[in-house]
Amino acid sequence: MDHKPFETSTPVRRLLIAGGGTAGWMTAALLGKLLGKQLQIQLVESEEIGTVGVGEATIPALHTFHELLGLDEPEFMAATQATMKLGIQFEGWRAPGQDYIHSFGMTGKDHWSAGFQHFWLKAQREGIARPYGDYCLELRAAEESRFAHLPRHGMNYAYHLDAGRYARFLRALAERHGVQRIEGKIARVEQIEPFGAIQALALADGSRLEADFFVDCTGFRSLLLGETLGVGYEDWSHWLPCDRAVAVQTASVREAPPYTRSIAHRFGWQWRIPLQHRVGNGLVYSSKELSDADAPEVLKQHVEGELLIQPRLLRFTPGQRHRVWSHNCVAVGLSSGFIEPLESTSIHLIQRAAIRLAQLFPAGGIRAVDVEEFNRQAAKDIEHIRDFIVLHYHVTERDDSALWRHVRTMEIPATLRHRIELFRESGRVFRPADELFAENSWIQVMLGQGITPRAYHPVADLMGLSELTQFLEGIHSQVERTVASLPSHQEYVERFCAPV
Ligand code: FAD
Repeated sequence: MDHKPFETSTPVRRLLIAGGGTAGWMTAALLGKLLGKQLQIQLVESEEIGTVGVGEATIPALHTFHELLGLDEPEFMAATQATMKLGIQFEGWRAPGQDYIHSFGMTGKDHWSAGFQHFWLKAQREGIARPYGDYCLELRAAEESRFAHLPRHGMNYAYHLDAGRYARFLRALAERHGVQRIEGKIARVEQIEPFGAIQALALADGSRLEADFFVDCTGFRSLLLGETLGVGYEDWSHWLPCDRAVAVQTASVREAPPYTRSIAHRFGWQWRIPLQHRVGNGLVYSSKELSDADAPEVLKQHVEGELLIQPRLLRFTPGQRHRVWSHNCVAVGLSSGFIEPLESTSIHLIQRAAIRLAQLFPAGGIRAVDVEEFNRQAAKDIEHIRDFIVLHYHVTERDDSALWRHVRTMEIPATLRHRIELFRESGRVFRPADELFAENSWIQVMLGQGITPRAYHPVADLMGLSELTQFLEGIHSQVERTVASLPSHQEYVERFCAPV
């Protein structure tokens, strides 16, 4: 469908959120808090349809969202049975038997002249370097399963949380800010002719909900933006071949480690997300490598502990909508696009979209320039993340299936090719100002996946060998002292979330 800019000077006084998964309730909680006094906000969801039921690993930027909402951390963690997440352990991604951690921490110390990796690369050539991760507090704490909130700069961490409980927790908060929840199944979306803007949602029980502006949080179905407004989808499956997932919850059989496990298999990969009361598990796979009929059995063979629910199959196409704001509707969450679960960025994209909507909220009417800005920012966010995810697949030594042979040799986005070449040639990494993943994330994954830069920055040569040894050992011993002083993660979480 052709895209014609839609504008209106009608003020937006009534907002209707369609769908109450993580996307719906995050958006409702934030807009309720920020705009609830000026707007009527309603959310319609259907218990019968339910939510996607996955999405339990987060990244540290979630703290910003929680600060905006004014959440109490122990209360939030107790309500969602959350644990701390210091990073992700990638097992077998480079080659079977080879593991590394992408931690949320800073590795080493940047020198004024060049990033830490240049000094480490020199030390490695000289044979005096420890593994790159030994200079990172969060990574070593993750390996030792330890955690504490530290004074001053602290540790950079995120959470593993129960998605269903998180939505309920946010719902209570949104309702306190005046958001009205309506139970019902959307049967039809009514549009105003001839412009096509959405006027109302007709529910299966015959009722009708009118609004001035709509947020589509209906999940993969994208009932408003995709189905009704006809906004197309850019398919990225030529870069990201996994198109299915099967998920299951199991009882915990060991203490929860403060990191997600991502285990590569010939048909894709598997996640393990440890919560306080259970473990979330899933297989992400290519339907060309594993059949939907076999996937649940394969997953069962790769989990520990008793199954708490039956395995649930999910189909998806990695990609994004051509536009996430069209007419008087913005899509947030899976309705706007989905890369794939690796690196757990989807909840973050919801957060970004909800904040962006608050910033560009069309209170006085919809202007094409705001819509364009919103769409431009949203596309950039997801494309940056896409490149980072594709990196994990492309830079690998695995060749044990057609999937891995394809991703190793495929054409990759030019933006990513440039970053890989730059690092391979010179050890250099630059982060565009608005990119989610910082330099150290790229470095950890590029080294972890097996790239060894051919050169390092010449300023590292200004440090003599004994000075370099002292510099590195100073960082390492500081990391080890701090890690040794931390309590176990399990013990800390139990104490932190206990009612006072
Ligand atoms: P949904 O949860 O599907 O919610 C849709 C809502 O719309 C529901 O309330 C439903 O009832 C309602 N609805 C739909 N149709 C109608 C209708 N006709 N009438 C009324 N209501 C309707 N993200 C992360 O950040 N970290 C992760 O670790 C992670 N892992 C993932 C693993 C997998 C396999 C998948 C598929 C996704 C994962 N994600 C992850 C993404 C994450 O699950 C989603 O971003 C998040 O749950 C938001 O989903 P949603 O609210 O958009 O959709």
